[in-house]
This record gives sequence, C-alpha cells and structure tokens, in this order.
Amino acid sequence: MPTAFHNALIQLHKAANIIHLDNSTLAVLEAPKRILTVTIPVRMDNGQIRTFTGYRSQYNNARGPFKGGIRYHWNVTEDEVKALSFWMTMKCATVGIPLGGGKGGIIVNPKELSKRELELLSRGYIQAISHYIGPDQDIPAPDVYTTPEIMGWMLDEYEKTVGHHAPGVITGKPLALGGSAGRGFSTAQGGVYCLQQALKRLGKQAHETTVAIQGFGNAGAHMAHILHDLGFRIVAVSDSKGGVRTHAERLDIPALERHKEVSGSVVGFPDVEVITNESLLELPVDVLIPAALENQITKDNAAHIKAHIIGELANGPTTPEADEILFAHRHLVIPDILMNAGGVTVSYFEQVQNAMGYYWTEAEVLQKLEQIMVDAFTAVWETKDKHSIDMRTAAFVLAVDRVATAMKQRGMV
Ligand code: NAD
Repeated sequence: MPTAFHNALIQLHKAANIIHLDNSTLAVLEAPKRILTVTIPVRMDNGQIRTFTGYRSQYNNARGPFKGGIRYHWNVTEDEVKALSFWMTMKCATVGIPLGGGKGGIIVNPKELSKRELELLSRGYIQAISHYIGPDQDIPAPDVYTTPEIMGWMLDEYEKTVGHHAPGVITGKPLALGGSAGRGFSTAQGGVYCLQQALKRLGKQAHETTVAIQGFGNAGAHMAHILHDLGFRIVAVSDSKGGVRTHAERLDIPALERHKEVSGSVVGFPDVEVITNESLLELPVDVLIPAALENQITKDNAAHIKAHIIGELANGPTTPEADEILFAHRHLVIPDILMNAGGVTVSYFEQVQNAMGYYWTEAEVLQKLEQIMVDAFTAVWETKDKHSIDMRTAAFVLAVDRVATAMKQRGMV
C-alpha cells in the first residue's frame, strides 16, 4: 500500500500540472519545513519509566502560523504526520483562512493508559516541543483519540513553561479555558454545509437521502447527530469494533449515541444487522461519509462503492488510484481538504477570540462558519467545472495556487 505522504505528493503534482507551477516552488512544496521527533519519558503507574515517540511536522507557514491537530494512535508514523501536515496546509488555503499547515502525533494506544499516565504523556509532549509552538508560530489542536481535556492539560503545561497566559497556543480547548462555542461539532457542521451545497446542486432532499458513516468519534458521531436532526436517513454507522446497519427507515441516532456512551461501541445496538467496516463502505446508499482513518477507499474496493456522494470527513480516506476509479464512475467526492475544514475554521475563530479576549455566541460562530464553507464549496465547484476535473483536484488547484502566491510574495521562491 502506498504511504499517505506518497498519495499526498500525487495530489500535489496533479494540481501543479494544471496551474503550470514552476519547478522551484514545487520542490519547496514537496517537503515539510521542519519535522521534530521527540522522546517522551513517562513514569507509569507501576513505577517504571516508559518512553514514547512523538512527532510534530511543520509543513508550510507562508500563509500564516503552522496549524494542525495532534493524533494519539499506535499506527502514527513520521510519514503519516507529514501527509497530514501537508493536507492541513492545503485545507487552510482552500477555505482561505490565514494559517499554514502542521500536524503532530504520538505512537501510543491511549486506551491502555490510565488518566494519570495520559496526562503526563500529554504534558511531556508539549514540554518537548514548547520552543517551536506558540500563538504566532504553531498552534496544535485535537485529532484522533485526543480531546478538549487533553488540550487543557497541554495549554496549562505550555503556559507554565512560558510563564504567562497564552490561550491562542492551542485550540479545541474546553470553553472555560478559552475554547470557542461550536468547536466540538464544527468539523461535522462544516461537512453538513458542504453536503447541503452538493445536494442542492443535484436537486435532492434530506428525507430521501440515505447515509452510511464510517467512524463514530468527534467527526462521525456529530455528523450522524446533525444529519439525523435534519431528517437524513442514516442507515449504517461503524467504529473501530465494527458496524451496524438497519433495514428499517433509519437508525435512531440519539439512542445509538446513548448505547455507545454506556458500552463503548456502536456494536451491540439492538435490532440491527452487524456489518464489517469494509462492507459498510460498499452499501447501496446515496451518501458515504468516511470519518475514521486514511486509505479506506483503495483501488481494491473503489469499483464496489455504490454511494453517489462520498463526503470525506476523515483525512486521506481515498487513495489517488481509487480517485481515478471513482471519477470514471461519476461519483462525486467532496474532498477532505474542503469537507472537514469546518474544524480548523472554528479553531481559527477560537484563536481570533483568544486574541480579542471577547467571545462570540454559538449562533455567531455558525453563521461565520457557514459563510466560509459555502464560499469555499462554490469556488471549488466552479473550478471543477472550469477545468472538467474532480473536486479534489479542483480544491488543490485553488489551494496550491494560494500557497505558491504567498511563497512568491515573501520572496521564498
Ligand atoms: P476520534 O478519535 O474522535 O474518533 C475516531 C473514530 O474512528 C472512533 O469512533 C473510532 O472507533 C473510529 N475508528 C478508529 N479506527 C477505525 C477503523 N479502523 N475503522 C472504523 N472506525 C475506526 O477522531 P476524530 O476527531 O473523529 O477523527 C476522525 C477523522 O476525522 C480523522 O481522519 C481526523 O484526522 C479527521 N478530522 C478530525 C477533525 C477534528 O476536529 N476532530 C478535524 C478534521 C479532520
């Protein structure tokens, strides 16, 4: 399987060809500006010291400070963090917010750690990278298996190190520490705005649209909740333990959320068919939402996908080979760098509010988010039509051009 960063470079080259990007700018865009590798010693509950490896990739800051989440996962690699930081650069440019791209990760299964161990690990990671982050330098946030609580510990550790308040150093914080209203569900909400724009153009209504969602965490579960409230028919969802599918009108998402809260998984929900994560992707639905991890739709299963619309809430769920197959079969892929950009957009709002020391209501946040997402969707859609290309390439065409322009205007290239 090609690596995530290999796939990211294919996407970059495809867009660079269309805009005739010069070779020197392309060469700079082919590698991150800096990658930190850190070793974090943690005294575990049994008294022994265990060391963990963490990364922070700072890809490009031509348009603003590096920005991107921190992932805790046993499969984190330097390559993955690099790819995710590249996509962050392109995502911020796609929606036109003044930020660059970064990403962090620690190789760990957080479910195996006690709360005390998790806190020590989180504080140790921030200490190790503290000289390289800051509100004007690099701003981390949550990603897979990291939470607002972890962001709170990280903020506290950073502020102790620098000796003053600096809430803008990290986003996705709890509200009491300067978090933004709406940040918790903003990734999903941004995806909902994108999906509504697509359905409007296809002349389809919510109540006649069936949806399958892979992943039931921050991105996937909030997506399910919001779409359910809007009348969409969510017929299948999954998490790391497996999936469930209904043959009735739709799943009762609030009941499923309560079930997951108590049992830890969507699996075991009554009166449903148990399915695998792989089979969920191939269900006969109108909309498929990958909201878990990379490389889920590949050349091996792309031809079996039946959903007309694929809305990528996850980062990098589709490989470039699968993209070709989906485009040939006339699927509409709303790409990750547009579809899940609501998260970083409200993270940007969080920073703006931290800088002002003045906070917006949820309604104000959502109104500003909708404006940004609808404008970005419209620009990507028009670029797709102009060049007769898929939406991913269209988003990259816009984003690469914006990043390259900033690099040139700085005299970097
Ligand atoms: P999360 O930790 O809240 O949830 C992850 C979910 O994925 C869990 O339900 C987990 O059970 C499930 N999962 C893990 N491995 C799986 C597998 N192999 N198959 C199916 N499901 C699996 O993480 P999240 O924040 O929801 O992130 C999910 C995706 O969305 C990631 O690709 C992330 O980069 C992307 N994303 C998140 C944000 C954000 O603000 N949280 C923003 C943009 C993009």
